[in-house]
Amino acid sequence: TEKTWNVSLTEIQKLQALDRQAHLHSFTDPQAMVQAPPFLMQKAAGSQVMGQGIQLLDAMAGLGNVNIGYGRAEMAEVAYGVMRDLSYYHTFAGITNPWAARLTELLMEIVPSQFNKVFYANSGSEAVETAIKMARLYWKREGREDKHLIISRDFAYHGSTIASSALNGLRVMHEDFGTETSEDALHVEAPFWYRFGGEMEFEEFGRYAAKCLEEKIIEVGADNIAAFIGEPVQATLGCIIPPKSYWPEIERICRDHDILLIADEVVTGLGRTGEWFGQETFNFSADIMTLAKGLSSGYQAISATLFNDRVASVIEGEQGVLQHGFTTSAHPVACAVAAQNIKILQKEKLIERIRDDIGPYFKTKLEELLDIPIIGEVRTCGLMAGIELCQDKETRDQYPLEYYLCQHIAQAALETGVIVRPAGNVIVTCPPFIFTHEDVDALVRRLRRAIEFVHDRLKAEGLA
Ligand code: PLP
Repeated sequence: TEKTWNVSLTEIQKLQALDRQAHLHSFTDPQAMVQAPPFLMQKAAGSQVMGQGIQLLDAMAGLGNVNIGYGRAEMAEVAYGVMRDLSYYHTFAGITNPWAARLTELLMEIVPSQFNKVFYANSGSEAVETAIKMARLYWKREGREDKHLIISRDFAYHGSTIASSALNGLRVMHEDFGTETSEDALHVEAPFWYRFGGEMEFEEFGRYAAKCLEEKIIEVGADNIAAFIGEPVQATLGCIIPPKSYWPEIERICRDHDILLIADEVVTGLGRTGEWFGQETFNFSADIMTLAKGLSSGYQAISATLFNDRVASVIEGEQGVLQHGFTTSAHPVACAVAAQNIKILQKEKLIERIRDDIGPYFKTKLEELLDIPIIGEVRTCGLMAGIELCQDKETRDQYPLEYYLCQHIAQAALETGVIVRPAGNVIVTCPPFIFTHEDVDALVRRLRRAIEFVHDRLKAEGLA
């Protein structure tokens, strides 16, 4: 029988059947899994992933997290060594381990200078959950328990646990779980200029979008609001890049109204924007920051929530056990792997490379796609991009979402050999930091073919 990476086709089919029988998948239509078997991913190296005999250029770096690329032996060696030395110990009741201590030291060297305290968890959702709980604890300790609401934005993505998902800015994510009605999360407009900017100049729109937060604060009353949370760039739901005027104004509003500012840097943290943190790219300072994806480049599950002195001193300022934590918080293996990941970013100057070399090239090459009639905007920041479809370049009219055009484009892109992700009428790409010029060329070439394929179909149906 034919073999792909040492597994026979019969074995692949067996694995697919086993999986389909009992594995409930994240963000997947279970009914679709009945029709089509799950894709069996088998190997990955550098920027390439391989499964079922197919090799693909991963222009999504997994889920925007495999920043140093796949399959680095040094990462495996670090994990192996620590697993032999201290496979696990918890960090409750004042216990630590050498790898947690060293990761903390390393983080304190690289994070924006206001952050001097870190809490570890396993996922981005848990980091956000921690940020929310600590913001509430802060105000409780300040004797202002009424300050409990969190303000988020349309098109935000902050996680999948109840409290973090209540912050998400897409109705479909709430409908099945009742989180939309949660009176704990309010939403304001996103700084989404292409879609909502109208006649406004880009920077003017940034100030307008920030003003929407101020209006909401006045409407609800600052006395009821604990914090505002935002991703420096709204990555998952369309790579929405704010004008430079936006974040400093948001920071001012939060200060003026005495509301904590949480930067969800799960995607942007550790280099994605071409600076170490999105707060540096967009010139603002948050009180609390979350990190996850790029912290370990996906080699282990680890996340972190960081606090400035104002918040940390209040949280630590009273006697009594902090009633929060996870069995695997500051797991020795995960901490060691995260520290090694940061050392690789430093040693190989991967973030400087985004800023000075591959980021600008990525931008220039992707913008070539603007000659396709259904591409309305190409927006890039560091090594993340949103390529937005339109029906009419002048009016910026959208195709109905029910056409699933970006899903079709992402599917067609797989046929041409590259992984991108659909987000409504936006195609998102978020490649590993090790992407070469040739990789960028291949991404743009393959994506163009996929878009043109879908455009041709639209033309054939008289829709373009
Ligand atoms: N916050 C942001 C900005 C994210 O993009 C994500 C995931 O995409 C999360 C939080 C949730 O992270 P996780 O999936 O690790 O729980």
